[in-house]
Amino acid sequence: MFNKDCFLDHVAIAVKNLDIAQKVYEDLGLKFSNKREVVESQKVTTAFAHIDEHAHIELICPLNSEGPVQKFIDKNGEGIHHLCFSVPDVEKKSAEMKALGYQLIHERPFMGANNCLVNFIHPKSTGGVLIEISQSLNSKE
Ligand code: ZN
Repeated sequence: MFNKDCFLDHVAIAVKNLDIAQKVYEDLGLKFSNKREVVESQKVTTAFAHIDEHAHIELICPLNSEGPVQKFIDKNGEGIHHLCFSVPDVEKKSAEMKALGYQLIHERPFMGANNCLVNFIHPKSTGGVLIEISQSLNSKE
């Protein structure tokens, strides 16, 4: 049974080289969008592959030696960086989670990849998982 108000949008994996990482998932049978996207706010380039109707693999590769993803790789090496859940209203969900005692990383939602408004919940308050919540601003066809 699908839940329309919260579903997995992507699993993000921090990588040092998009081409090398992409090959792993292509060998598994996934197809990547040939358009890569630079997300300035996070200082990364992203590559997306659909897994099913909703879920993607998102490879995130640091643009340079700065930014949160480079810091993550320096500390932890390559690997799973965050899970992203799609919600209808990211502003509302941020406020709800905050009221429940979760630690939001950003005061206000901001533009992430794929024309989505996003915020992040700190792993300290979620049992060790960085969780992104995301609201797609793409019109549904
Ligand atoms: Zn993400």
